[in-house]
Amino acid sequence: MKIATDANAAIKEKFGTVFAPKMMVSHFKDNTWTTPTLADTAPFPMDPCAHVLHYASAVFEGMKAHKTPDGIGLFRLKDHVARLRQSAGLLYLPVPDTEMATAMIRDAVNATQDLVPDPPGALYIRPTLLGTQPSIGAAASPSTEAMFYILLSPVGDYFAKGLKPLRLLIEDRYERTASTFGMAKAGGNYASALGHIMKARQEHDADQVLFCPQGDVQETGAANFIMLDDKQLLTKPLDTSFLHGVTRDSLLRLASDMGYKVREENIDLQKDLLPWIERGGEAALSGTAAVLAGVGEMVYQGNVLQLRDGEIGPNTLKLRQALVNIQTGQAADPYGWRERV
Ligand SMILES: *Cc1c(COP(=O)(O)O)cnc(C)c1O
Repeated sequence: MKIATDANAAIKEKFGTVFAPKMMVSHFKDNTWTTPTLADTAPFPMDPCAHVLHYASAVFEGMKAHKTPDGIGLFRLKDHVARLRQSAGLLYLPVPDTEMATAMIRDAVNATQDLVPDPPGALYIRPTLLGTQPSIGAAASPSTEAMFYILLSPVGDYFAKGLKPLRLLIEDRYERTASTFGMAKAGGNYASALGHIMKARQEHDADQVLFCPQGDVQETGAANFIMLDDKQLLTKPLDTSFLHGVTRDSLLRLASDMGYKVREENIDLQKDLLPWIERGGEAALSGTAAVLAGVGEMVYQGNVLQLRDGEIGPNTLKLRQALVNIQTGQAADPYGWRERV
């Protein structure tokens, strides 16, 4: 782990490898959380029999703080805290109080203001919750102890090498994770998707896998899937099978106000997605890290399907820019999404 000393130097490092020198930490034991403290970002002792190391009791969040003309803005803090609590509940981890989690994120960012890079960079915030009960006997019971910390990482432009359209492998049999568990932002879900992603990379040179079990177009390994054209935006309605992205939600509201018809409907691979590609529609992946990343190609049953001209679509770019403008304070925020730290 590298410690950042300067935002401009930090954003040149690989995403996710360089961190602010301080993080906020609280521990749960004997049914209470300790008073959160600002600690050094450094390796910490972990019991070899800790619950998380054996039974994957780990959830996390990913959100950003942006430099805006009137100070540092946190994007949709409330929604990220709510989702963290939802994920924790799904794994029966001790659930951090809304007030405590919110204050810990604010305090962590406050202590790190000088490491928030200029846009298009941002301070990536990674709240992490681990089950730390020291017992391998607790396989069938929730961890009674936990550690909760707020890790911070200055990040540069996700598309530093230019906006690059993605290539997705369409997986029409397997799901990313258990269908009741998709809405937990849990490390175990990533582990379970990795085999598919590795295969897609090695065999098809794909960037990501679009999981469409039994033809139900869900999401990729780490981002939601959106179809759009000049008039409409189409994405799967919320259910338990996939992660409820804050970016997805933001884009839907923004698109609706920009005059797009927003359709939250189940998407069938054969009936909807393949004809959509044929007709020249756009597709994109949404998530905090990349905001909205255009898809250029999909690989299905060994055939490469090009979307439009293979470049990022104009509506994808337009919607992405509209959201970035709100996040970075270049546009008004009628939704109350941006909070000053
Ligand atoms: C985090 C995540 C997303 C995107 O969520 P955002 O809140 O938009 O960042 C989508 N899918 C998965 C599997 C994720 O883990």
